Amino acid sequence: MTIEALKELFAQSGLKFTNQRYLVYKAMVEARDHPSAETVWRRVRGEAPALSLDTVYRTLAALEARGLVTRVPSGGDEGRFDGDVGPHHHLVCLRCGCIEDFTMPGAGLADLPPTVAAWGRVRDAQVLVRGVCRKCLGQNDNTQPH
Ligand SMILES: [Zn+2]
Ligand SMILES: [Zn+2]
Repeated sequence: MTIEALKELFAQSGLKFTNQRYLVYKAMVEARDHPSAETVWRRVRGEAPALSLDTVYRTLAALEARGLVTRVPSGGDEGRFDGDVGPHHHLVCLRCGCIEDFTMPGAGLADLPPTVAAWGRVRDAQVLVRGVCRKCLGQNDNTQPH
């Protein structure tokens, strides 16, 4: 995404374009690992030494409020963010904390049961699969996931 396209996107979202916001958003769009605010901060710090962790938190919250990033409900203590706001689902490892994407046809909004429509208005829906990833299982073969 070019800087010009990004400026346009920010303007449409009612967000003032700043270099710090640009760097945080760029890091989010490039990330595939659903980073925490602290991870984003470490990645961006090289290009913006004056950027504080607090600003990264506030920038992510502003981007989230405008639908430019989403928060992954991983269940961990640390908030994890996703620069890919397209419909997809998540695999969360409870041991190493890695979060991977997956897509599942037949798990879209049109497939929700009538009880959901009766409950209220749905914005989005995602499946969260939690367990122990293959990599972690390989490190300790006698541990079975529960
Ligand atoms: Zn793992
Ligand atoms: Zn994702």
